[in-house]
Amino acid sequence: MDCPVCHNKNISPFATHCLECNADVVAFPLLDDLEHQCIDTLKDKVALEGDITALAQIRESDKKQYSKRMGRMYWCLLLFPLLFFWCAKKPIPRAVVENTDKINLLEKENQQLKADLQAAKDEITILSNRKDTPSQIDPDKDAIIHIVKKGESLSILAEKYLNDKNRWQELHKINPHIENPWVLRKGMEVKIHK
Ligand SMILES: [Zn+2]
Repeated sequence: MDCPVCHNKNISPFATHCLECNADVVAFPLLDDLEHQCIDTLKDKVALEGDITALAQIRESDKKQYSKRMGRMYWCLLLFPLLFFWCAKKPIPRAVVENTDKINLLEKENQQLKADLQAAKDEITILSNRKDTPSQIDPDKDAIIHIVKKGESLSILAEKYLNDKNRWQELHKINPHIENPWVLRKGMEVKIHK
């Protein structure tokens, strides 16, 4: 056994004190042990502190991620109802379909009315022709009745019968049943004076 202070090797295993320096040879190893224990504890403490720091960093980054996710969730919660209302408001297919049906119906009705009007006009023309130009009992002895052929107009007839296409107005005057002097219907009767 050595003296821990003066390194004297001649110490009896049963001695409590060094004969050279009077150091307590029992207490010194105990102190040594305690010191080692203390150093180990300190090392453990440092390691634990490192762990704590690392854990705090992890916690901090988790917190940031969490708040990011919460922010996204709030946006979703805010935007979802808006999107829902926007989507729910936009398509009104029923009304559109109803309106389209109505429009189609009105268009058909309009076409029917137009056809009726044309038929009535034709009837009026036929009736007025019968009334105005009775070819047999024409009081004007010199007048002749021309049956309109396709593509003929009053100026063409004036040219043909009166040798002057500018006299179509005279023909129009004695043919009051002609509504449009520029467009004559095929088969129409036109009275022509000499
Ligand atoms: Zn000693």
